[in-house]
Amino acid sequence: MSTITAPNNPSSAISVDVAEIQRIFELQVEHQFKVADSTFRERKAKIKRLKDAIIENRAALHQALHADFAKPPVESDIFDLYPAVSEAKHALTHLSKWMQPQKVGTPTGLAGSSSYIQYEPKGVVLIIAPWNVPINLTFGPLVGAVAAGNCAIIKPSEITPHTSALIAEIINNIFDENEVTVIQGGVETSTALLKLPFNHIFFTGSSHVGKIVMKAAAEHLTSVTLELGGKSPTIIDETANLNEAATKIVWSKYSNLGQTCIAPDYLIVHEKQKKRLIHLLIQKIKEMYGQTLQDREASSDLTRMVNPRNYDRVANMLGDAVEKGAKIELGGSTNAADRFIDTTILTNVNEEMTVMQEEIFGPLLPIITYKDRSEVIKIINNKPKPLALYVFSKQKSSREYIIKHTRAGTTCINDCTVHYTNPNLPFGGSNNSGIGKAHGFYSFEAFSNARSVLKQHTPFSAVQTMLPPYNNSVRKMVDLLLKWF
Ligand code: NAD
Repeated sequence: MSTITAPNNPSSAISVDVAEIQRIFELQVEHQFKVADSTFRERKAKIKRLKDAIIENRAALHQALHADFAKPPVESDIFDLYPAVSEAKHALTHLSKWMQPQKVGTPTGLAGSSSYIQYEPKGVVLIIAPWNVPINLTFGPLVGAVAAGNCAIIKPSEITPHTSALIAEIINNIFDENEVTVIQGGVETSTALLKLPFNHIFFTGSSHVGKIVMKAAAEHLTSVTLELGGKSPTIIDETANLNEAATKIVWSKYSNLGQTCIAPDYLIVHEKQKKRLIHLLIQKIKEMYGQTLQDREASSDLTRMVNPRNYDRVANMLGDAVEKGAKIELGGSTNAADRFIDTTILTNVNEEMTVMQEEIFGPLLPIITYKDRSEVIKIINNKPKPLALYVFSKQKSSREYIIKHTRAGTTCINDCTVHYTNPNLPFGGSNNSGIGKAHGFYSFEAFSNARSVLKQHTPFSAVQTMLPPYNNSVRKMVDLLLKWF
């Protein structure tokens, strides 16, 4: 396919055309069985086109992401384009196996029959995406939907208009609208889409909007995958390698200027390690992004807050923390005109501050300390279950203690965020941080109905010894059934 140029003036105020949404939805409902009938080769060809389109439009995607929030191209490649390409490659390798009937065992009581699971497409699905890694979170789920044989409508975020317009152009060039289409727009468009009886909704975004999506889905008993956010804690115990931990935490926290769902939200560090950890975090920030505030503000490797609303949200969080007694160990400067917030480390924080209550989704890193590991468990379990939990420790028993006594969607041991890129691991939260799992087979599964099929091979089966009238011999058969099978 041909390469597309990033649009110069994407309309940020796209009006909702409810009749148009209804028309496209009906086209897809009509067409779904044709798409469902697609062979392995046909689905593979579509996934390959999606993958190739990302690579072919790499420069334009960089340009659009930069226009939207000054995202550095290398960071776009690592955190946004690569995960989507990798998801497509993984599906291309494994799709043939996923589409095969999966044989299951037969209990003795059903002797004479055989059973298998056939994954069938759910039908017409809706994918709603956020803005922070928009290529990954539109193309990624779409790979799963196409692999499973669905029709799909995709609603990217209105907050990154250049990127969303380009996503629409690329995807709408590959597919006919009766199979896959991108509909741009904001809350009203989402609301109109959510009124329709989709067969599955794959939503990525905030927990607040996740609840709105789930309520709307309940109206039609539509199944949902909710990939949400939350406060992801990072524990650094008394045995952790601090140099290694500081490097990994700084990169995971400040890439995308902290606007990453699985960024370490706050640190819980053993009190003996606090001083040295802060020293190392500051050293790594300066090495990666610049020695002074001016250097960091001029660094092309730091993204900007995506819009004034998100800038204000995080700047207010910082103001609230400082007003209530937080100490700024590094950073703390803000520049509204440029939507810049410096890489900030905060100590002396407490639960009264919004920075310890809400998902930060910005470049503030609060640090709290502990003496006894039971305190760590209390701090984590007093908050809703996080999307990710990280633990830095050289001691196996300490790592196991934390994992065993807490709950989280995902975990990395002695690292942060990299688990996201292993397509063999299910990715997703738990309760407040999400419902359902994605990536690799788990995305294929999310967009499929696992249909159970039992095939009876004999005209007479054991069940027929238990037909009415329920006389003594039937009762004896039932007694045997309860006792032995
Ligand atoms: P958001 O919830 O505000 O928006 C997500 C999508 O929902 C957008 O397309 C938006 O147009 C739509 N939307 C917004 N309000 C709506 C409403 N009232 N009704 C219907 N639709 C509505 O989230 P965001 O600001 O785009 O993204 C940030 C959030 O996403 C953070 O909480 C972050 O943790 C989370 N996130 C999670 C993952 C994950 O994989 N779990 C990945 C990225 C981001």
